[in-house]
Amino acid sequence: MTHQILNTPAGRAIKCLTCGSVSFNANDIEQLYCGKCHEFHLDRKDAAPEAIRQMELYAWIGEDDQIDRAKRTGEWGIKQGMCPAGYIPLVAVRRDKVERFADNFNKQARAMGKKIRLVRFVYAEIISETDEGE
Ligand SMILES: [Zn+2]
Repeated sequence: MTHQILNTPAGRAIKCLTCGSVSFNANDIEQLYCGKCHEFHLDRKDAAPEAIRQMELYAWIGEDDQIDRAKRTGEWGIKQGMCPAGYIPLVAVRRDKVERFADNFNKQARAMGKKIRLVRFVYAEIISETDEGE
């Protein structure tokens, strides 16, 4: 990977990991371009479609808070919710789809004594992709 997309208080930016230059130019970000090196960051794995690079994931995150405190592992993970199919990780690309579980997690945190947080994750990199498809 030769670049990094940054989400800063001043907006999205692209950082060239070759020269260290940071650009807030929308075209540089879209085209994965470094104006200082005059080169595109064209690693196939990094060249994610803009739709993926813009995507955010929202998930309820917390430490293992099972009822039996002696069995708690201290591990952190995605909180789960019960649905007709069973327990599923509460993660979504739309914030409102998971935010509506806030009351449930407030109750759970009160009962178990562990803070639970709704966290926004932003795109970092593609680590694998199918050979087929476009
Ligand atoms: Zn550069």
